[in-house]
Amino acid sequence: MQYTADKYNRMQYRRCGNSGLLLPALSLGLWHNFGDVDDSEVYRKTLHTAFDNGITHFDLANNYGPPPGSAEINFGKILHEDFYTHRDEMIISTKAGYLMWDGPYGNWGSKKYIVSSLDQSLKRMRLEYVDIFYHHRPDPDTPLEETMSALDLIVRRGKALYIGISNYRPEEAKKAIDILRSLGTPCIIHQPKYSMFERWVEEGLLDLLEAEGVGCIPFSPLAQGLLTNKYLQGIPSDSRAGKVHGFLKREAITQSVLSKITRLNTLALQRGQSLAQMALSWILKDKRVTSVLVGASSSAQLLDSLQCLNNVDFDSEELNTIENILKD
Ligand code: NDP
Repeated sequence: MQYTADKYNRMQYRRCGNSGLLLPALSLGLWHNFGDVDDSEVYRKTLHTAFDNGITHFDLANNYGPPPGSAEINFGKILHEDFYTHRDEMIISTKAGYLMWDGPYGNWGSKKYIVSSLDQSLKRMRLEYVDIFYHHRPDPDTPLEETMSALDLIVRRGKALYIGISNYRPEEAKKAIDILRSLGTPCIIHQPKYSMFERWVEEGLLDLLEAEGVGCIPFSPLAQGLLTNKYLQGIPSDSRAGKVHGFLKREAITQSVLSKITRLNTLALQRGQSLAQMALSWILKDKRVTSVLVGASSSAQLLDSLQCLNNVDFDSEELNTIENILKD
């Protein structure tokens, strides 16, 4: 497959914390839209559009689908059929931490689960290693030392190049970062939920990551599609909220949310952006953010989102307007 020669010039790359790794300002997540319930030609095209526009980072997890595991299988198939000669130009991540298989060893943070889950992910994607492996969420019942030593082990075995954590709050993130550093396998990235509608990372996490030299890749930056113009005229049947397997529930689209989206949409249009673009730019304005991890159900959507890179600056009046809309 031939790709546009200047694709790397179309993307900005940001350093991931203090590591040697550069990530694209926009990365593509495969949580939804790449499972067996989805159209393979649509997601194949989305992957091509991503790579052709300098998106080098593709984010997966053991349980992405549905059914769980199918996103890794489908991605692995396309990777081998269409992209394999480009493997060294790609950063592929996966995770373990949520329920993946029955019994006491298919969930949370034991060494048993983490090591065997990554082995399964590698088989599904037909890869020898992933670039980044994450612990997907903290486990309150397993000693953090055990989980972190499992992450250290898989790097030493060559099954992952870099380690990250996801959904860890500042205090537990600090402990994990310290343990990993002491083991000689630094944590290079944290993947938290962050959008205009979900802002806990501003209360300590971003400061911690900056101080520790750890990168940050926010997920669900569009609040699963709420921060776009798609729900302004009702709930389309092909949207995440309209699909039975979608994680976004109809009940989330309240009058209060709709009122905020309507006003944010007006501001976005004044800035010459779609609401989706403005929501992504708003996250990327913060230099502590390495990359913003977006989802897309079509290549047209991804092309729209990519335009956020053309305007990541906000003046103080725009920022105040956003704050006033969000706090109402
Ligand atoms: P987003 O908030 O970006 O939502 C993606 C959805 O928004 C798309 O499916 C689409 O909805 C809609 N959308 C995207 N672009 C546009 C656009 N330009 N115009 C209009 N609508 C648009 O992110 P996700 O919730 O999908 O999460 C992104 C990634 O983050 C995941 O794929 C995964 O890799 C990661 N993640 C990690 C988690 C963790 O615990 N670590 C948890 C959740 C996600 P529609 O389908 O309705 O068309």
